[in-house]
Amino acid sequence: MSTIGVAASCSCLRPGVWLLKPGVQKMSCLGLHTAARCAAKDCYEVLVLGGGTGGITMSARMKRKVGAGNVAVVEPSKTHYYQPLWTLVGAGAKQLATSARPTESVMPQGVDWIKSRVTGLDPDENCVWLENDKKISYKYLIIALGISLHYEKIKGLPEGFHHPKIGSNYSVHTVEKTWRALQDFKEGNAIFTFPNTPVKCAGAPQKIMYLSEAYWRKTGKRSKANIMFNTSLGVIFGVKKYADALLEIIKERNIAVNYRRNLVEVRADKQEAVFENLDKPGVTEVHQYEMLHVTPPMGPPDVLINSPVSDEIGWVDVDTETLQHKKYPNVFGIGDCTNLPTSKTAAAIAAQSGVLDKTISMVMKNQLPTKKYDGYTSCPLVTGYNKVILAEFDYKAQPLETFPIDQSKERVTMYHMKADMMPLLYWNALLKD
Ligand SMILES: Cc1cc2nc3c(=O)[nH]c(=O)nc-3n(C[C@H](O)[C@H](O)[C@H](O)COP(=O)(O)OP(=O)(O)OC[C@H]3O[C@@H](n4cnc5c(N)ncnc54)[C@H](O)[C@@H]3O)c2cc1C
Repeated sequence: MSTIGVAASCSCLRPGVWLLKPGVQKMSCLGLHTAARCAAKDCYEVLVLGGGTGGITMSARMKRKVGAGNVAVVEPSKTHYYQPLWTLVGAGAKQLATSARPTESVMPQGVDWIKSRVTGLDPDENCVWLENDKKISYKYLIIALGISLHYEKIKGLPEGFHHPKIGSNYSVHTVEKTWRALQDFKEGNAIFTFPNTPVKCAGAPQKIMYLSEAYWRKTGKRSKANIMFNTSLGVIFGVKKYADALLEIIKERNIAVNYRRNLVEVRADKQEAVFENLDKPGVTEVHQYEMLHVTPPMGPPDVLINSPVSDEIGWVDVDTETLQHKKYPNVFGIGDCTNLPTSKTAAAIAAQSGVLDKTISMVMKNQLPTKKYDGYTSCPLVTGYNKVILAEFDYKAQPLETFPIDQSKERVTMYHMKADMMPLLYWNALLKD
């Protein structure tokens, strides 16, 4: 606990950042530089799109800034999930229910929850469109729409999930299937995949592999399992310090890594997985599996593709240091839906939220934003039921560690931070107003 206290007192943003709160800044609508006051409920001082990690965090901060009744979040889901726990749910170490809370309960008091889906953005007119053709206007817009999962881009999915032996920690609908497949394992190949797209939490595809390996060791089945990590990437992890540590573990635990292999088809009835070789176009490999863990292709939410606020791919096009939109000064982006060139994690959002809070304060005062985001992100690499390597790094893929110890070593303390302390900080500090 004391180390966390030290971290929180730093100006830099680390796991302890989840405890940091912005100072309350009283500011009425009339104090803002933009023209008319928003009175009706179809116009808000600050409109937040998406009520996931980034959206709820920013709505709490914005309510402090502009007051109750002046902030709204557009979010269709009734349930809010703390997704980082799904790694442990898939391995049977936590119940799915512990990752879920009603959206209503995480919506900060005084923030309006608009239970709908955004269908279009018109930043030239300062408004967005919702499902029922309802228009909502704003003075300031924060986009936090997350990343979309595309299981359907793999032939045979998602219908293949109706068969046993296959799971995926990335979706609430399939995460418990991972645990079932893990327990059902008898003998053969256990294959873990990493797609050929950006993903959220790039460590998660291999965390479940280490947990599975540990589970089979514990249950006496390890010698029956041929464990394979088939990844589209050419490296095991993007930061050398942690990659070196992971490669040691992979060697020691006798895991096979096949680089530049992309899952393109699942024949779930035959328990076959088909991979393309990204270095040999047209060449595919078929592997029989006894267990398959799928990390799906991912991409920007549909509503952002070809939107005026997006780059050519569909990510919200923001300044890498201030998170302000490159073209529309009253529009901001946070989290997985942005083109910030860092690893997409909740930890990154914790760091981004502090910077974005300051950026918006300055913009509201007609001043230039000064606080800069360094790309901080963190990935607790779970390597067993009581072991974690805590990777923390910046835009340059340089370690940016919180603790004065070698974080590339597997540690029990870091496991408890990931499994027990982080969820508490998430619900009780990061999301709170
Ligand atoms: C298996 C797994 C393990 C992970 N492990 C870690 C970890 O150990 N550490 C870590 O820091 N991070 C981890 N993450 C990543 C982390 O959960 C995400 O990076 C983070 O939640 C992203 O927050 P976000 O606000 O950008 O998106 P989300 O939290 O996904 O929220 C996006 C919201 O937008 C809403 N939305 C989408 N489209 C629309 C629309 N058209 N209109 C209105 N609303 C819409 C969605 O309903 C959703 O609520 C993990 C994720 C997974 C899946």
